[in-house]
Amino acid sequence: MRLVLVGPPGAGKGTQAQFIASNLSIPKISTGDIFRANVSGGTDLGKLAKTYMDRGDLVPDEVTIAMVRDRLSEDDAQDGFLLDGFPRNVAQAEILRDMLKDWGLALDLVLELVVDDDEVVRRLAGRRTCSQCGRIWHVDFDDKKDDRCDACGGTLFQRDDDKEETVRHRLEVYQQQTAPLVSYYAAEQILVGVDATGPVEEVTRRAMDAIRPYMA
Ligand code: ADP
Ligand code: AMP
Repeated sequence: MRLVLVGPPGAGKGTQAQFIASNLSIPKISTGDIFRANVSGGTDLGKLAKTYMDRGDLVPDEVTIAMVRDRLSEDDAQDGFLLDGFPRNVAQAEILRDMLKDWGLALDLVLELVVDDDEVVRRLAGRRTCSQCGRIWHVDFDDKKDDRCDACGGTLFQRDDDKEETVRHRLEVYQQQTAPLVSYYAAEQILVGVDATGPVEEVTRRAMDAIRPYMA
């Protein structure tokens, strides 16, 4: 199964990706996670990406696409993958389509996580990520009183780009650059919308119900 998750920042893509990928036994490939790992590791890619990420802008396409091409060429992605945060604009979507076509492949499904702006702002304001296992939490919705990950005991951190002004800019970038993907993939007839409100497990159930008919 070759899947893409789209939706605004804070829609729950990373949260759902971890459960969906595990249910389908495919790797979750998050471009945001790969960039953040490079920033932490102090690589040249990380240094370059950080200047864009700190502003809430997209990292240039040629850098992002080269990184995704390398990641999709790895062994664990040969029988399927779940992309979270890529593509982020129509140019990236077209290159992904051509790259897969060259390999004799195509996307099976694009899930759009649908949630309104007020909810997105609430979710991003309380987002915390585990520095050890990467699991995503929310200070209020998960009732996190300490900064420890309930899954592995790692320390939780708040993302630099979850500051209010940066969040506002990221939402604008989403509307201008990423939202057009919804009609792009609708035209390709591989888009399914999923109501991403309500408890995490309920959203996962809706997502799995949407995916099932597309499974070989
Ligand atoms: P995205 O990857 O789309 O930016 P995340 O998966 O990081 O979004 O989720 C953003 C925040 O919202 C996190 O703090 C997460 O715990 C919380 N969250 C995700 N799904 C839900 C949900 N269904 N209900 C409440 N909070 C949620
Ligand atoms: P995310 O973790 O998906 O919210 O992404 C965090 C940041 O990483 C974004 O605001 C961008 O700066 C960068 N990023 C992630 N994915 C992409 C992409 N496909 N294209 C360009 N920049 C990206």
